[in-house]
Amino acid sequence: MERRVRVRFAPSPTGPLHIGGVRTALYNYLFARQNGGDMILRIEDTDSTRFVPGAEDYINEALAWLGIGIDEGVREGGNYGPYKQSERRDIYREHVDILLKADKAYIAFDTPEELEAKRAEMPNFQYDASTRLSMRNSLMMPADEVKALIADGTKYVVRFKVEPNRNIEVNDLIRGKVTINSSILDDKVLYKSADDLPTYHLANIVDDHLMEVSHVIRGEEWLPSAPLHVLLYEAFGWLDTMPQFVHLPLLLKPEGAGKGKLSKRDGDKLGFPVFPLEWHDPKSGEISSGYREKGYLPEAVVNFLALLGWNSGDDTEIMSMDELIAKFSFEHCSKSGAKFDYKKGAWFNHEYLLRKDDASLAELFKPVLAANGVNPADFSDAFITRTVELVKSRISFVSELWEQAKFFYVAPDSYAEKDIKKRWKEDTPAIMEELIGVIESISDFASKPSEDVVLGWITEKGYHMGNVMNAFRLTVVGECKGPHMFDITELIGKEETIARIRKGIEQIKLADA
Ligand code: GLU
Repeated sequence: MERRVRVRFAPSPTGPLHIGGVRTALYNYLFARQNGGDMILRIEDTDSTRFVPGAEDYINEALAWLGIGIDEGVREGGNYGPYKQSERRDIYREHVDILLKADKAYIAFDTPEELEAKRAEMPNFQYDASTRLSMRNSLMMPADEVKALIADGTKYVVRFKVEPNRNIEVNDLIRGKVTINSSILDDKVLYKSADDLPTYHLANIVDDHLMEVSHVIRGEEWLPSAPLHVLLYEAFGWLDTMPQFVHLPLLLKPEGAGKGKLSKRDGDKLGFPVFPLEWHDPKSGEISSGYREKGYLPEAVVNFLALLGWNSGDDTEIMSMDELIAKFSFEHCSKSGAKFDYKKGAWFNHEYLLRKDDASLAELFKPVLAANGVNPADFSDAFITRTVELVKSRISFVSELWEQAKFFYVAPDSYAEKDIKKRWKEDTPAIMEELIGVIESISDFASKPSEDVVLGWITEKGYHMGNVMNAFRLTVVGECKGPHMFDITELIGKEETIARIRKGIEQIKLADA
């Protein structure tokens, strides 16, 4: 019988979710949805020393912003809870006991100082089959002594007894069969009496089994943990429900930033976020930038991330979440790391902004207007929407709309020096005066009819088309760029157009003198 697809995203709340973690969550989600399966969000908070307040909320908020839906989790509930590991202590304790009773694990009392001394004495020391018999553990002590030490409150850990020299096969849907010899593994600590908590190794594996996880989809950095996954499933007698492994390629530094894993430093240096949302570090107060606050659309971030380590097989680049769900496959995931191309991220955002309808873009623009001292309520929705429509091909971020469209809202009070030099001639003020008269005479101020009148006048007078039109633009926009001139004047209206030409004649003359 085909197994129900159940996947889990299992972050540790130790800080803001890194963009690589978001990609892991996304791939889990795409695979779950494609197969009509379940997406679990499991909070792996067993390392009490690394817990960071706010990190769990951050994870939830980031996934919700991106539209990565969760079926089972702390907030969503479900039949396999609790979904937070710190609330599952009894379950782990029970499983530690099973291994101890079956002689597959043992209790070790070695103190950190003793382990340190051992390492100093043996440079390649590893706590394993070759050394465990020279250490202080339940394998080497009479049962009474072990009991007495525990009764005294002596701190101990439980270690997994790894059988040496066995070839362990890990089947990975991207990497194929990976064989690892058990002798390279140490006797992993599974549980610590000090905080009565399991380690990541035990909790992660017990939960994968109990939550009936069918596929473990995670970053490549977890590949070394996979053999232990197999050995523990075997020790518990669960091998027939062993999940399929999928280890995703690393996210690498962008082109030109050297070799290795993408880091927060790369982002700081090159000016792009490595976190989905802005993060305020509760301890240091440091603020790290986020994609959301930088003005990225969630759809663009999802599309961009999906293609970091996977391709559609054809040349399609722009894909909605539904298309990604339909097309996603591990066969098209790469084994080698994916270079983080942040410029491509901006390109995706540009493409998604172009595809957004103008009315919703206008809504996104309103707070930007307000931040720049323009009260959006002073303008009609139709006006704001039209300004957005006229300039959106020039932007990658909503915040850039201001730079491109501000002249629709406020008259320029400075004029580009280089444009003045090039276009403002001695006879320009007189011609601009004349232009005011021409404009006053236009009865239908819509773009096309105004254009016909003004261009007709320039031609008839034999004026230099480029100079006159650019001088005109300079007075209205403040520089010689922007959308079609008569689309601008139609929108700001005749009165405002004339007022701006007048102001230009005065101020540009001043600037010239
Ligand atoms: N808690 C681990 C992490 O922080 C989970 C690794 C896994 O998915 O097995 O990424």
